[in-house]
Amino acid sequence: MKKIASKNEFDFASIGAGPAGMAAVLYAARSGLKSLALDFNSGGQALSIASLENYPGVFPSVNGFDFINSMRSQAENFGAIFFHANVRALDKIGSTFFLETDKEKFAAKSVLIATGAEHKKLGVPGEKEFSGKGVSYCATCDGAIFRDKNVFVIGGGDAACDEAVYLSAIARHVTIVHRRDEFRAQKTLEQRVLQNKKISVIFDSVVKEILGEEKVKSILLENVKTAARTNFECDAVFISIGMKPRTEIFSTLQKDSGGYIITDENMRTKIPRLYAAGDVRAKTLRQIVTAASDGAIAAFCAANDLHENRS
Ligand code: NAP
Repeated sequence: MKKIASKNEFDFASIGAGPAGMAAVLYAARSGLKSLALDFNSGGQALSIASLENYPGVFPSVNGFDFINSMRSQAENFGAIFFHANVRALDKIGSTFFLETDKEKFAAKSVLIATGAEHKKLGVPGEKEFSGKGVSYCATCDGAIFRDKNVFVIGGGDAACDEAVYLSAIARHVTIVHRRDEFRAQKTLEQRVLQNKKISVIFDSVVKEILGEEKVKSILLENVKTAARTNFECDAVFISIGMKPRTEIFSTLQKDSGGYIITDENMRTKIPRLYAAGDVRAKTLRQIVTAASDGAIAAFCAANDLHENRS
């Protein structure tokens, strides 16, 4: 049996401290479980939301940073412990889970996978080379660097539209490049983009290369219908083409075709007392409100499963 310090033994541990993980440890702590959130990404993608407008009951809107900080304070207030570490391995021996991190080792009677998702890459020449030198995946993190500059946003979903609107208040001009001729984004966000005089849209186009010297200087686009290529001068390229689930260390779990972890409606995986919640889980709507809901359900079931001694 692995030796774990008693301070590192928990009833419930969430791998991840975004909205799913934080809602889960809030509910778990309030139900009397000694609860841990392993926080490797400090709030996850929600941190980069410029204006959170669709979380019921939070009105007027707040930014993602304030929202996440408030969620964390609320969970800590009820006794949840947060620990900043990267989980390297998860094992189950008997009825105990062992979590190995880059810092300390932990044991838990139940574990939630709430690792979320990460930004997809375009995979074009120049993307990696100019990352941090004009190529970014987060407008709220890096937008201020490009005040009065000419920036491009790639993608046609909610995130791309959200980022473009946010950047329009900072940059001289914003151009969205989308590979199809219609947005995937919600209509309200689409309208906000189309009505914004500082944003223009190039449809039916894909990025072939991001060019520059020390930093980004231009972007080469190809029209997917005509194959015509055009080089546009620009100072920054914000890539917003969706997310992929973070599941590397959970190779044995059942996943859907997109790599998202399959659970039942109570967030249970096939492994007893192992749950998944939030954006890492196979489901139809990935939003903060559904992540928080998943987390609450997972914690509720974990408390019941422990109480009934299911292992
Ligand atoms: P998404 O909805 O999956 O949209 C990704 C966009 O990128 C799509 O338009 C897609 O094109 C495009 N794309 C994907 N791969 C591409 C590639 N290789 N080259 C060029 N374009 C590519 O992802 P998201 O916008 O990141 O949103 C993720 C989730 O967060 C969604 O559930 C969203 O609702 C939520 N979210 C909500 C808000 C908000 O409510 N304010 C803000 C941000 C995110 P196609 O359309 O052709 O597939």
